[in-house]
Amino acid sequence: MNKIKYCFASLLFLFGALGMAQEEEVKEERKPGHYNQSKFKQLYEEFSTPNTYRSASGAPGPDYYQQQADYVMNIELDDKNAKIYGEETITYHNNSPEDLEFLWVQLDQNVRAKDSKSPLRNGNGVNFAYTAGNFAQTYVTEPFDGGFNIDFVKDASGKPLSYTINQTMMRLNIPQPLKSGEKISFSIKWWYNIPDHTVNRARSGFEYFAKDGNRAYVIAQFFPRMAVYSDVEGWQNHQFWGSGEFALPFGNYDVSITVPADHVLDATGVLQNRDEVFSKEMMKRYKQAKKSYDKPVLIVTQEEAEAAEQGFSENKKTWKFKATNVRDYGFATSRKFIWDMQAVKIGGKDVMAVSLYPKEGNPLWEDMSTKAVVQTLHTYSKHTFDYPYHKAISVHAKNQGMEYPMICWNYGRPNEDGTYSDRTKYGMISVIIHEVGHNFFPMIVNSDERQWGWMDEGLDTFMQYLAEQEFGKNFPEVVAPNENYPSRRGEPSKIVPYMSGDQDFIAPIMSNPENVYKLGPNAYGKPATALNILRETVMGKELFDHAFKTYAQRWKFKHPTPEDFFRTMEDASAVDLDWYWRGWFYTTDYVDIGVKGVKKYYVSSKPNQEMQKYMEDRNLTEADFPPLVYLAEEDSEDFLPELKGKSPTEISQNLKEFMMDNMTAEERAQVEEPKFFYEITFDKPGGIPMPLIVEYTYADGSTESVTYPPEIWRKNDAEVKRVLATQKELVGIVVDPKLETADIDTANNSWPKKEEKSDFDKFKESIKGK
Ligand SMILES: [Zn+2]
Repeated sequence: MNKIKYCFASLLFLFGALGMAQEEEVKEERKPGHYNQSKFKQLYEEFSTPNTYRSASGAPGPDYYQQQADYVMNIELDDKNAKIYGEETITYHNNSPEDLEFLWVQLDQNVRAKDSKSPLRNGNGVNFAYTAGNFAQTYVTEPFDGGFNIDFVKDASGKPLSYTINQTMMRLNIPQPLKSGEKISFSIKWWYNIPDHTVNRARSGFEYFAKDGNRAYVIAQFFPRMAVYSDVEGWQNHQFWGSGEFALPFGNYDVSITVPADHVLDATGVLQNRDEVFSKEMMKRYKQAKKSYDKPVLIVTQEEAEAAEQGFSENKKTWKFKATNVRDYGFATSRKFIWDMQAVKIGGKDVMAVSLYPKEGNPLWEDMSTKAVVQTLHTYSKHTFDYPYHKAISVHAKNQGMEYPMICWNYGRPNEDGTYSDRTKYGMISVIIHEVGHNFFPMIVNSDERQWGWMDEGLDTFMQYLAEQEFGKNFPEVVAPNENYPSRRGEPSKIVPYMSGDQDFIAPIMSNPENVYKLGPNAYGKPATALNILRETVMGKELFDHAFKTYAQRWKFKHPTPEDFFRTMEDASAVDLDWYWRGWFYTTDYVDIGVKGVKKYYVSSKPNQEMQKYMEDRNLTEADFPPLVYLAEEDSEDFLPELKGKSPTEISQNLKEFMMDNMTAEERAQVEEPKFFYEITFDKPGGIPMPLIVEYTYADGSTESVTYPPEIWRKNDAEVKRVLATQKELVGIVVDPKLETADIDTANNSWPKKEEKSDFDKFKESIKGK
């Protein structure tokens, strides 16, 4: 529509009797208190008050601080008995302005201890079926004897340090408070029995391969780790129950890991003694891999791994690593591992994309793992910051999907004969993208997973969708050129079953991960979809991408909170999103917007009955008003059929005179007078306000798309009317025609209603024929 036509339509309704009636109608519909509970109210009550640590803009404030924990560790794996032994010296830097009377250390392995309360925390009935391993462990065998055995805790001078263990947390009772700005060193020695992670989904442990008698280890949460102390939580010492993941400070690691000499091992950090642990042949291949930007180079071949499986070295080898500014540590080791690497250029620097997998992962793993790592580094770096570490490793471990700095464990195993389904293939690529992606959230943008699962899972799953779609385009040998990557999460329609489900089993995204019913859709799917819709439909890609990148850049190597994210997204875009955060993140509301009814009007030569009554009641005549233009509804007694088909200026002398007085001849010549006036009522049974996306179809087959901003719902959350003035007859309306908003019920999205749609379809077909 051009500008003059808009003016024309608004003039009609400014003075029109219909306009007056409409104002009153809206007031009547408003329920008491409705305005005060506006979905567009700012989130002052939900958000914490900005302060000098965290600014109102969402950026770190001038007094922002974070603690640092450095580790020197000696670790030894006893492969025969599946035990791990460790000794560490932690140096803890108190950068907070407060003195600390005690320190909290996390003992996550204690979730597997015999006396763990974790298995007792859930009410449960009988299952109809159990996995054999799970059944045996639950009902037949002794509980697994896991958990840390602490040999000692000593201060820097070697004297025992008093400590108190409360389940998965250990309080160090230091003799004097650790003063602000000072540091303290202490040592801990421990050992524990490594669990079989395939039995009850432990996040780390071993898989036993009965055919060759070997184990493949993926080891994490294996050392006592410092808890986070921050301006937000004080000590984050909420117990590890199993669902709420981890909160960890950054620090530098110096780690020596001793394993059987025939093991292949990779870990967080830069390998310090490569020429001691690599054979000459491996060194040669490694040098090739560093220059191979187009495909992986095998450092250990399948043939070599299969040969190693046959032995069991009694000798030991120590692998030494150093890692700077990481929040955690993990490693994988086995004599079964095949190893490949390729180089990737990220921001002018070389990063190694690495995969480790037993032969059971092939042929899938040699074909696709490193490809998925490469794509992840490219896509995520583009949207956040250049991947800062020197390598990213994907390790194949049955049923695993877990992330650590530079290294992660991933599922995706072909059948024994090497065949695999599309489901296995795409599941594997997706989990690799997801877990490697976790390097960005939460390993570098270091949010508190124990409190907010969605801050890493939601953001990562959103980015995963973007990376999957790019993977689909970049690897035509994996995803056919005319197909899109079949992403499991991200598309708006995919979250509809969850959001439209039983409200008794849905929690807001802003919930602790321990307390939600379905963690997958709650912390992964819904926030990912919310961000995808925000990007594609609400903000637009340019504004969203800049704001999202701003958040990542502001908070890389720092500890953000939800508000820091919410505030930054607004700060960098000038889009008020409080209504969006409220609807999607703080409530369990869903989206349902529809078209309720359409009334058709023509310009009339006399006031309608309502207007006549209005004048009679107040003893007014037409002379008491400025010159008026009238509209009459087609399906009413006011309608004068003889006026149909005439232009507004032919019918209304007032309008004709107004135009003569206020417009030049040239302007009048440009005017295209509308003939039809439609009053369209849109309704919103769903609680979340969203942009009202409408496609109008006209009798000549043309369509027009209009997006009314979400603020259209700000004064009436249930229903809004719009007037459409047009030269062409309106024959169809569809709300959200491209299914962009996760609308849970599309039965109310069309006019004429869907059951009448056959006529509309017939009409559309008749147009097509012409
Ligand atoms: Zn995840």
